[in-house]
Amino acid sequence: MLPDRIEDYVAADAAVRVIDAFVDRLNMAELGFQRAVAPSIGRPSYDPRDLLKLYIYGYFNEVRSSRRLERECRRNVEAMWLMRRLVPDFKTVADFRRDNGSAIVGACRAFVLICRDAGLFTARLVALDGSLFRAVASAKKILGRREIEEARDRLDRRIADYLSGLDTADASEPDDAGGAVESAMAMLESRRGELDRMAGWLDETGRATVVEGEADARPMGKGKGPKPPAYNVQSVVDADSGLIVHHDVTDETSDNRMLHPMARATKDVLSLDSLTVVADAGYSNGAQASACEDDGITPCAPANRTVNNTGDGTLFDRTAFAYDVMADRFVCPQGRMLERKQVMNKDRLVFYAAKPDDCGACILKSRCTTGSRRHVSRHFDEDALNRMKERATPEMMRIRRSAVEHPFGTIKPMMAGGRFLTRNLNGTRTEMALSILAYNIMRTINTKPTPA
Ligand code: SF4
Repeated sequence: MLPDRIEDYVAADAAVRVIDAFVDRLNMAELGFQRAVAPSIGRPSYDPRDLLKLYIYGYFNEVRSSRRLERECRRNVEAMWLMRRLVPDFKTVADFRRDNGSAIVGACRAFVLICRDAGLFTARLVALDGSLFRAVASAKKILGRREIEEARDRLDRRIADYLSGLDTADASEPDDAGGAVESAMAMLESRRGELDRMAGWLDETGRATVVEGEADARPMGKGKGPKPPAYNVQSVVDADSGLIVHHDVTDETSDNRMLHPMARATKDVLSLDSLTVVADAGYSNGAQASACEDDGITPCAPANRTVNNTGDGTLFDRTAFAYDVMADRFVCPQGRMLERKQVMNKDRLVFYAAKPDDCGACILKSRCTTGSRRHVSRHFDEDALNRMKERATPEMMRIRRSAVEHPFGTIKPMMAGGRFLTRNLNGTRTEMALSILAYNIMRTINTKPTPA
């Protein structure tokens, strides 16, 4: 009553066939997969193609752990077909993902290049967005200098108490037959060494906190509440096809410095001379906008700037002051000049100030400043920022929203709501490449043209 061949259980248009065909056309050795060429002597190892197919299939179906993938090879007909009934043990499966990180990232990129060469990207407009994905560590593992110092003090007290207790015990019972003393002391001292290493790492990197066991992750999140250890995943989506053109996993706590590197990499992937990228206000950064324009990239993002006044919000904002490019000064609503006063290179800002006498005698002063005179700031890249803001029209922002929401809305459920299983940037980049490869394959299948 049942079909004789496992082939007959797999539908002709099943996604697993697309995964199989895609991996078969990859040049595994060129991508850098280990054991891409089978050794002529010794025990034959698993073909990396098989393990890559299994992982893509797993991420496609929200199965990411090596133990669950091993189980799928025994009971899932599609997995049996894909693996030709091979059943690698979970350790082999896990080792493959751990040892082939950059090759897996290369396979994800290879799919993007296939899509590019097939003309699937219009590249009319790309949308950039970032999203936080939780690291494999709890918020309790976040330690600052103070916490490390307190933990070291506690440990030193315990070691001292332990040693003084031992002196008393030694007097009555000198033998430590099981070596319990040495092992307890070794544990305490090993912990002391870990704390010293973390303190040294904070000094070296200049960071305020370290996540124990997950040094690359950082506390991230919005608002004032506790921030869990996480990674910032950046993705660039082709607005017309909905495919992810480029992505990266970063330890940047905000999107503010990501506009130019992501747009530049996308332009390279698509081999374009120019590119238009739209992003939200989190990417508003004058230096990044200037760098994009210099590279032939047209950025569109709303401004994310504070109003330049210190009053109750009713004082003139900076738009009431006209900038005179030739004279490099502002003209206030009363026609007085605000001359260049101070430059802050770190914030890339120039401050301009009115004369105290002008403001003191001004009838508009109560609407302009609460101080003795008015200051206005101007960004080094003010013109690029303004151009970027003007291009971020409501229609552009609507397109951005519809382009970026779908990929993360699909990928997060594939990853247990946006949680990594692997550690550090190497592991998380590998995992994200598998998720995005699975997403892009899924998107390509779902949007294929229907036959006439
Ligand atoms: S308070 Fe000073 S800066 Fe403001 S409008 Fe009057 S003169 Fe101009």
